[in-house]
Amino acid sequence: MKEEEIRPKAILDQYLKLSAEDGAKLDKNLFQECVCQACGGTRKETKFEKHGYTYKMCLDCHSLFCSPRPTPDQISSLYFNSPSSTFWSNVFFPSVRDARREKLFKPKAKKIANLIKEKGLAVKTVCDIGAGHGLFLEELQKEIPGLSLFAVEPDSTSAEVCRSKGIETLVSTAEDAKVWRNKFDLVLCSEVVEHVHNVKNFVSSVHSLVRSGGHYLITGLGYDGFDILTLQDKSKAVSPPHHLNFLSVEGFNKLFILLGARSVEVWTPGQLDVDIVINSGIENEFIRVLKARGDSVVREFQEFLARNQLSSHTWILVQK
Ligand SMILES: [Zn+2]
Ligand SMILES: [Zn+2]
Repeated sequence: MKEEEIRPKAILDQYLKLSAEDGAKLDKNLFQECVCQACGGTRKETKFEKHGYTYKMCLDCHSLFCSPRPTPDQISSLYFNSPSSTFWSNVFFPSVRDARREKLFKPKAKKIANLIKEKGLAVKTVCDIGAGHGLFLEELQKEIPGLSLFAVEPDSTSAEVCRSKGIETLVSTAEDAKVWRNKFDLVLCSEVVEHVHNVKNFVSSVHSLVRSGGHYLITGLGYDGFDILTLQDKSKAVSPPHHLNFLSVEGFNKLFILLGARSVEVWTPGQLDVDIVINSGIENEFIRVLKARGDSVVREFQEFLARNQLSSHTWILVQK
């Protein structure tokens, strides 16, 4: 898979430009300083600034997080009513929908079906948090027929699309989905954790939706990936005000242990780090030599990163 297939450069750059403009409009006098979003630690240092937002690093678990950060109200206004969000749903997503179904959702559904089989998990009920149009649940249903499907989706138009596909849907954020406490065998949450105002509140709401002994799988951006480690503030993934949290592998482990999870497994099956760094146009001597060695070396290096928790695309499987 190549970055261009799921994030065409011209459209991504337009989206990032609108995001930066939206970010500049927020009233920074309201922003709040915060503790480490993974371990709650207070020892931190400034790592860099981007578009007027400061990212700090926890000196205990080495997670990266935006601080001071927008308030919950500022963040929700951003998602419900801003040029960048409108562009995302009306232009960006429709243009990559089919590619994402083929390149992201289908393979991910296969991987989750394998995971359930390998681990012998008893899964009948599955809930997707931030389900969008339910594309991912549809793919999972194809892999594991007979599942009962549920969705939590804050956008009412998207929630209607989920319902039209026979998915029982709550128009809500995870934090407000309390009627579904202790209900599901498996809860999924894809690419949300890096966006939220308070990671601890968010993941404990996800945790609370799972039955005792059940599992949840959170996927999203982490800090310990080759692309983000290399590019730092030049990484397009570091895009305030949308992406605020980049937890380290250590940080993710600490976060879920502190929540009282029975077990936590973190792995980084990303495929794009090297492609992203090469496409960034930022050259260092290592990148120059790596590129010159050709495609098979690049592929092997990416596989090495994925195997050794060194890709920024992170999966965390947690048992409650
Ligand atoms: Zn920390
Ligand atoms: Zn995102």
